[in-house]
Parts: sequence; structure tokens; C-alpha cells
Amino acid sequence: MCEPIAPPTIQWPPRVTKERLRRLYASEAAGLLDEDLLDEVGITLYLRCQAILDIERAQSKGLVRCPQCQRQQRESWARRERPSRERPDPLVCCPTCGWSVSWSDYQRSYRRRQLNMGGAGSYFEAFVESYPGCRSPRDKMLAIDRLIHSFHYSLRSDPTLPTRPAAVNLVEGRLRDIVPFLDELTYGSDSPHLAETRRAWEETMDRWARQFATWESLAGRNWGQTNPDATHCKED
Ligand SMILES: [Zn+2]
Repeated sequence: MCEPIAPPTIQWPPRVTKERLRRLYASEAAGLLDEDLLDEVGITLYLRCQAILDIERAQSKGLVRCPQCQRQQRESWARRERPSRERPDPLVCCPTCGWSVSWSDYQRSYRRRQLNMGGAGSYFEAFVESYPGCRSPRDKMLAIDRLIHSFHYSLRSDPTLPTRPAAVNLVEGRLRDIVPFLDELTYGSDSPHLAETRRAWEETMDRWARQFATWESLAGRNWGQTNPDATHCKED
């Protein structure tokens, strides 16, 4: 049994900045794709998606990826003990290196950081699975474009109903900035490679607007009170 000496700091990967995405898309539109920036953005998004999936695994299966082992390029999973009367806040203890954290500290570490999987898990998973296999800059750009234009879908009412852009988990900024920003990226480029994502984005936005009236009303203060799926946006 290991005991935590002090609450450990768990560092979660940051969201990608709008400025980096803007520069990346501008270079793509100019036909001079910045490949270093492409890799930087791709890896940031990869780590972000992986963190989202890890937190989901911790919540649903009680398995926590050990951050200390991860820093040393090892994959190790610590199992959360069940709460008991003697230990209502159980320890999570890495069997490989002895790193440990209380479950409550672990939960606190990701609160209000936009790391909840919500209804976009399949997109985060698809990116984590496919991105490392992308060899050409074009494939990487397509994977990034598809990911940042994906949506959360309803977990409660209609599973085909788009509820909010997945970019809130991936791109810095607040929910109300995300759609105008993605529009700017989407229409700033007339690259034929990204045409499919643009079409899908337009269709989903149309559907979303029909369902939730207008973007302006959605971005308004009262949105979360009328849409049950909007509870995922509490973190914003
Ligand atoms: Zn470890």
C-alpha cells in the first residue's frame, strides 16, 4: 500500500491556440503548408484527445494512466480501489512506480478544463487511432481538419442530434467564440482537399441551427437552461 506524500500535480495537455490554427490554415491556403507547425498542432491535439479518453477510462473503469510512468515513456495503469467506510476517498496507486493520488485529487485535477468526453468520444478515439499512422502532410491536415470540425452528439435524446462543436475541448477560447472561429478557418481556405469537411460542417451547422434556433441564441446566457445536452457546457 502506498501513501501520497503530498497532493501530486497532474498536468493535463493544453488546448491548441487559435493563433496556431490560423497560421496553419493560412499556410495551407497559400499552398505552402508549414509542416513543423502541422506536427506541433497534430501532436497537441493527439495528447489532448488521449487525455480526454484517459479521463473517461478512469471514470468508467477506475483505471488511471500513471503520469509519472508516461513521462518516462512507459504505459502503466493504476486501479482505483473501491470506496469503503475506512477509506471513503480511495487511493490510486501505480503498480509499476509507486506514484499515487487520492481519487478526489485526481478528479479535481481535470475539473473545469474541458476534458469531458461528452458525446464526441468516437471522434477523439478515431483521431488517437489514426493520427500516428498518417504519413503525408496532407493526411495529417485532413485528420486535424476532420477532428476540429466534429461535433458532440446527444447522449440523452436523439443520438444523431449534434449538440455542440467538439472544438470546445480542443481549441482555446470560450464556447461562444468557437463557431465564428471555425467558420473563419473553414471559409478562409478554398483547398479542394478540405472540401468534404466544409460540406459536412455546413450540413451539421444547418441541422444544429434548425434544432436550436440560431447560433446567437445558442451562445446566449440562457442556453444551458433549455437544452438538456447543454449540461456538458458547464465547464465553459
Ligand atoms: Zn507509474
